[in-house]
Amino acid sequence: MRRTRRNSLSDGGARANAGKLGDENPDHSAYTGRRLFEEQVVPDTVHTFAGNPLDRGEALRRDEANIAALVDDPASLFLPFHRLNVAAAAADRLAWVRREELGDEPDGQLVLLGVLDGVARFAVNIENPDNPERFSDCRAMAAQLPVEETGMLAQARAQLDWHRRNRFCTECGGAMQAERGGAIRRCGGCSKHIFPRTDPVAIMLIIDEPGGNRCLLGQSQGFMARTNFYSALAGFLDQGESLEEAVRREVWEESGVHVGHVQYHSSQPWPFPSQLMIGCHGIAESQEIEIDPAEMADVRWFTREEILRALDDDNEALRVPGALAIAHHLIRAWAHEEVRL
Ligand SMILES: [Zn+2]
Repeated sequence: MRRTRRNSLSDGGARANAGKLGDENPDHSAYTGRRLFEEQVVPDTVHTFAGNPLDRGEALRRDEANIAALVDDPASLFLPFHRLNVAAAAADRLAWVRREELGDEPDGQLVLLGVLDGVARFAVNIENPDNPERFSDCRAMAAQLPVEETGMLAQARAQLDWHRRNRFCTECGGAMQAERGGAIRRCGGCSKHIFPRTDPVAIMLIIDEPGGNRCLLGQSQGFMARTNFYSALAGFLDQGESLEEAVRREVWEESGVHVGHVQYHSSQPWPFPSQLMIGCHGIAESQEIEIDPAEMADVRWFTREEILRALDDDNEALRVPGALAIAHHLIRAWAHEEVRL
């Protein structure tokens, strides 16, 4: 049985790094895995944009003097961003720099990401860089990076974007300021404070029946419409709705297919701007497809054979998402019979 997943650390990366944190940091290595089958425990899948090895420094953030000292610490590392693109040292390396190497003057928005090996890591926004071409698209960059770097990249991009979008209070319209190294924003008028926001998205691969040989993939309206590219169905969770209910509702709305059993697989931070993709498999209770043409260009059942050829890049009629996306791993896990439904 195949266990290899690209960008999946299994027993390595994030947990190995967690062990390198300072003594005061919690031990993130107390890990149990998931018992999928009676005979074996399968490690969690660590997707691109997860695997962040930083201690986020919850305790040290409570004293602003600690943060000021870390900003001035010559050992601290800063990751510059410009228009939400990240500074690159090379195609496969982020440009973490010391304060005196920053060059460009920060525009004031500084986010303390956390601490690794006793060294503080910050993300910093540069409004007017001397050299704008050194900044790269985060998604393109992530495809070239070790997974733990993609985790820090996701945290940095999502938090800088959140600060940029929340300059004013939604209660009184007053100006908001970052506190705790950027972990909250507080209103100068009414003292309301807000936390960085994450929007949950359900993404699901539906199988035609228990142990079935077909899965449901769709093509949303837009630039992918009427191409050979299909992916797992997905949608934002609504308020007052469980994950399982969101899976059933989204599949029914987009395809007309009714879903029964829903089984969690793994999740992926997606910092464009700040989603958490919650990956599930599910079992259909009906087969007939009736698409919502406003949202979907096409939804179809594909056989395991068609999927396996697409995963091998050997199917002219079907392309599926690459390893950067959780959809790829939901599809692969089912096609390679790594999940039992
Ligand atoms: Zn206010």
